[in-house]
Amino acid sequence: MSTDIPLLRVEGLRKHYAAPRRWLARPQPPVQAVDDVSFTIARGETLSLVGESGCGKTTTAKSVMRLVEPTAGAVWLDGQDLLRLGPAQMRERRRDVQIIFQDPYASLSPRLKAGEIVAEPLGNYGSTSAAERRERVRWLFGKVGLRPEAIDKYPHEFSGGQRQRLGIARALALQPKLIVCDEPVSALDVSVQAQVVNLLMDLQAEFGIAYLFVAHDLSVVRHISHRVAVMYLGRIVELADRDTLFAAPRHPYTQILLSAVPVPNPRTPAQRLLLQGDPPSPANPPAGCRFHTRCPLAQPVCREQAPPLSPREAAGADGAPREHLVACHFR
Ligand code: SF4
Repeated sequence: MSTDIPLLRVEGLRKHYAAPRRWLARPQPPVQAVDDVSFTIARGETLSLVGESGCGKTTTAKSVMRLVEPTAGAVWLDGQDLLRLGPAQMRERRRDVQIIFQDPYASLSPRLKAGEIVAEPLGNYGSTSAAERRERVRWLFGKVGLRPEAIDKYPHEFSGGQRQRLGIARALALQPKLIVCDEPVSALDVSVQAQVVNLLMDLQAEFGIAYLFVAHDLSVVRHISHRVAVMYLGRIVELADRDTLFAAPRHPYTQILLSAVPVPNPRTPAQRLLLQGDPPSPANPPAGCRFHTRCPLAQPVCREQAPPLSPREAAGADGAPREHLVACHFR
């Protein structure tokens, strides 16, 4: 497969949920959880999706794997549109895309031993013998920093961080090209979060895995990401490489989000910007720019015309041009 094309290309992804019909009530509009989302991920790259709860980042990530079935769009993996695949073909491609969930305890079967949990995908997909599977599971335990004797323990005997390491070992078992990380450290103690994030980065460096990383903790996102996409009410409003986005955010929503990130130097006064009001309902998003009801810079045109996500000039520290996409009429 050519390495010129991105590993993952998502185009015009939509996920609309039909509202439940109530007797004698007027039909309600669908909930636009994800609306016209496009991005790419290169091999070995981490793209993070950030935004408030309910902005559509988790739905986007799960749609990529078809854990929720998208309403429209295309999801190209290695040049093959996953949304056009039948169940058997999709099952085969799933070995290339694995997922790590937010709550490791809920995602691990309490009735299986740790070794069986990690061996399960190998048994489902591979033609390996039981002895080969045992050997591979031991190797995977070593790779994620679990002791070999932990193979015979049950999930409840592990700490939260160890359970997430177990989830990572299971995701790694089939040597995937892409791992969807759905808030993988937000349920962990702060002291353990850094260990798990560093483990993910080490595994990426060793195996060239790409990550689609969903998170709301911007300090974690800054540490792990190569590129970051900011979502608001089902759409991407800004997308740039990590350094550009954190150094010079352009979209007013991104600027407000990033103002909440703690600054490393306590002598530098933090200028915290506050987001006004609640996000509108995705069943009835505002016309024009979806952020206009909360934007401090909104003008009349913002209520009428939706700004496209379009390129801006940006350069890195070396002067080389960088990707920077913004959906705003004035930024
Ligand atoms: Fe704010 Fe208008 Fe830009 Fe939307 S288009 S972010 S409302 S200034």
